[in-house]
Amino acid sequence: MRSAPSAVLEGGHADLVSSFESFVQRELVPLAAEVTETSAPPPADLRSYVRKRSAALGFYAGEYPEEWGGAGMPLTAVVLLHQAANRDGCPLAPYALGGADGPSPLLRHGTPDQIRHYLVPLVRGELTRCFALTEPRAGSDAFQLTSVATRTAAGWTLNGHKTFVSNADQADIAIVVTATDLGAGPTAGASAFVVEMDRPGLRIGQRYTGMSGEPLFELLLDGVHVPPDAVIGGEDGVGAAAALAMDSLSWGRLIVAGQCNGIAEHALRLAVEHARDRTAFGRRIGGFQHIQEHLVTSHAEVECAKLLTLASAQLVDGGADALENAALAKLTATQVAVRVVDRALQVHGASGWVRGHPLEFLYRHVRMTTIIEGTSEVQKVIVAKAMGLE
Ligand SMILES: Cc1cc2nc3c(=O)[nH]c(=O)nc-3n(C[C@H](O)[C@H](O)[C@H](O)COP(=O)(O)OP(=O)(O)OC[C@H]3O[C@@H](n4cnc5c(N)ncnc54)[C@H](O)[C@@H]3O)c2cc1C
Repeated sequence: MRSAPSAVLEGGHADLVSSFESFVQRELVPLAAEVTETSAPPPADLRSYVRKRSAALGFYAGEYPEEWGGAGMPLTAVVLLHQAANRDGCPLAPYALGGADGPSPLLRHGTPDQIRHYLVPLVRGELTRCFALTEPRAGSDAFQLTSVATRTAAGWTLNGHKTFVSNADQADIAIVVTATDLGAGPTAGASAFVVEMDRPGLRIGQRYTGMSGEPLFELLLDGVHVPPDAVIGGEDGVGAAAALAMDSLSWGRLIVAGQCNGIAEHALRLAVEHARDRTAFGRRIGGFQHIQEHLVTSHAEVECAKLLTLASAQLVDGGADALENAALAKLTATQVAVRVVDRALQVHGASGWVRGHPLEFLYRHVRMTTIIEGTSEVQKVIVAKAMGLE
């Protein structure tokens, strides 16, 4: 459902969004006919094709500068593309934009060599990566790291245990965050390394299948030797991982918010269509006030989430770090999407609950969004701090 209030903030990017939607309809929807399994990601070769084709058209990783192969898009445009990619239910569309497998914002701080060798091919969709930060005892408290990198004459040796890593089975490189100087405290001592996945000592452990079929992996580091220039940012990057991550926190959270707004729009459209069509007790169910309550409340919440997300993205584009606003938008958009999908399924009754129905998939898929990129509780901690409530 599109409506006037958020269109005010979308205005400047309408042509871009409409050209992305045409690409999805013209090229991805026909290809998606090959994707019959909704409980697993699309085949890797199809995802690879979608990435490269979308990169050639300027959509994939469009937020990166043109000299690195991107399109120099502002965050507002990127958020709107993620919203559009999740709005129409084409299972390939989200893969046309960089996600957990795409370029890592940490590499923006890379040395010229790291940018040439890793970031540029990632932006073109030729390589994929994974990001290994979480550990069995370090989740929200992300820098309580026990994985450690030790300096050697030839570079660094990495040892440790990472968990819940997306795309580890397909990635060409891993961005691995470890402690480098435990004496300096967990945050001060963390560094991010680029590690090629075929390095001896690096291996995938357990595979976890998530609710929506997307797998996560353990990544085990057993004496992995990397050269001195594997630290992102070179010598200046040693101990600086937390600082380097700061400037992309709002980006990551607002992109998740945009994805959620698209998911919620999709669910709401399905529910409205169903409510206009389905009859019970001799009338359309959309005429029942209980059903209208589900749909109108959802519509109001989705519009609020979109406005908050786009206004926060515009603050970032204006040069603010917008950490509090990004937290508010991520908290709101993810929770709204979870509620809207739940209500849309309720409006469908049993038909929405059946395996293979889009709402059955969305119900499982949307649940991760309140956990990734900082849980809802972590967003509340950030907002409470900004409210002076520490
Ligand atoms: C689909 C998916 C993909 C992921 N991909 C990756 C990846 O590619 N790479 C990677 O490194 N990690 C990844 N993760 C891991 C993710 O980053 C962590 O799950 C997340 O940081 C939360 O950590 P945790 O699961 O250990 O929960 P915990 O930190 O143990 O939190 C448990 C509960 O306690 C709450 N809590 C924690 N601290 C506070 C606090 N201060 N105040 C109030 N409540 C609090 C949390 O909000 C949560 O409700 C992924 C997770 C999922 C679900």
